[in-house]
Amino acid sequence: MVAHAFTRDDIEAAYLAPYAMRSADSAGRQHPETEHPYRGAFQRDRDRVVHSAAFRRLSGKTQVFTGGMGDYHRTRLTHTMEVASVARTIGRTLRLNEDLVEALALLHDIGHPPFGHAGEDALNECLVDDGGFSHNQFALTLVLDLERPYPHYRGLNLTREVLMSQEFRAAKHRVHAGDCPLLEAQVVDAADSMAYDAHDVDDAVKLGLLTVEELLELPLVAECHRRVIDRFGSLQGKMLRRTLVHELIDLQVSDLLKQSTAALEAAGFSSATDTLRGPLCICSSADIGHQKRELERFLFQKVYRHPAVIAGRSEAQRKLRDLFNLYCNDPARLPEKFQQRLEEVSVRRAVADYLGGMTDHFCLRQFEQLA
Ligand code: MG
Repeated sequence: MVAHAFTRDDIEAAYLAPYAMRSADSAGRQHPETEHPYRGAFQRDRDRVVHSAAFRRLSGKTQVFTGGMGDYHRTRLTHTMEVASVARTIGRTLRLNEDLVEALALLHDIGHPPFGHAGEDALNECLVDDGGFSHNQFALTLVLDLERPYPHYRGLNLTREVLMSQEFRAAKHRVHAGDCPLLEAQVVDAADSMAYDAHDVDDAVKLGLLTVEELLELPLVAECHRRVIDRFGSLQGKMLRRTLVHELIDLQVSDLLKQSTAALEAAGFSSATDTLRGPLCICSSADIGHQKRELERFLFQKVYRHPAVIAGRSEAQRKLRDLFNLYCNDPARLPEKFQQRLEEVSVRRAVADYLGGMTDHFCLRQFEQLA
C-alpha cells in the first residue's frame, strides 16, 4: 500500500450521501475473502464482471439490430457501456456509490442470449414447461455458477448487494412498498431505459427505418429539437440526428436528477438500509415519464416491429430452436462443462444455458456445422 494513499473507505466516507451503499457496510460474499488493500468491495465486483467471459461475449451479441444490418449500430456491449456512462453520471451527482452503480450497470445485460429479445423469446418458448428462460435470471446463473475463474468455488463470488440487485431485476424479489432495490440499482434501471430510447432512435434513423421528421411529431423529440435550435441554430441530416440524441439523454437525465433529488429530500433516508423500505426515489417527472412512454410505443411499432427487423427475428429464432432440439436429442454433442451440468439440471436447461452464453456468430456457426 502506498504511504498516505486514501483507502476506499476514506473516499466513500468523504463523498457519499447518507443513503448511499458503503463498501464497509456490505453484507459480504458467499465465500469469505480478505479485503483488498486498496480496492473496495464493489470495485472488485465491477472488475470481476469486466474480466468475465460472458461480459466479453456481449460484443458479439445483438442489441436490437443484427450484425448483418451494418456496423454503426449498438451491440449489447456498447449498449452496456452507454448505460454505465449515464448511470455513473446520475450516481455521482446524487452522491451514490459509483463503484456499485458501475458494477450493476456492466452486469445488467450479461445474461442476454444471442439475437437479443428474439433469442430470449425463442429460448423461453423452448423451456415453457421447465420454468422458462429470462436474461435476468440467466445473469444470476452465470455469476453464481457458469463463470469459473477461481480454483476453489464456482461463480464470481460477488457481494450480496450486487446479487440482491440482480435478483430484483429477475423479479425473484417483487418490488413493492416496503421492499425496494438499493438506490444504486434504481439508477441503473433508469439509465438502461434512457440509453436505449436514445440509441435506438439514433440507430433506427441511421438504418433508414425512421425519419427525423416522423420523430419530430413526438413531444419529447420536438422539445429536444427546440433545445438544439437554441444552442446551434438550424441543423440538418446527420448532425441533427446526433444532436437530437445527445439532447434526448441530457433532457432525461436532468429531469430525473431534479425529480429524484426532491424525492430523496422528502424521503429523508438516513442509511442505505432505510432505502430498502422505499419509496422508490429514482424517477422521472410525470410529464417526461408520459412522453417517454409515447416514444417507446412509437419505437415499438415503427422499429422493433419493422419488417426488416422482424425478418431477422424469425430466422434467428428458427435456428436457435433447431439447435436446441438437436442438442436435446443428442446431449453428447454438448461441451464437457455442460455435459457435467446434466448431473444437476435437466437436459433442456443445460442446453438452454449453453445456447444462452453464445454470441450471434458462434451460434450461427454451430447451426451451419450441425443442422
Ligand atoms: Mg439493457
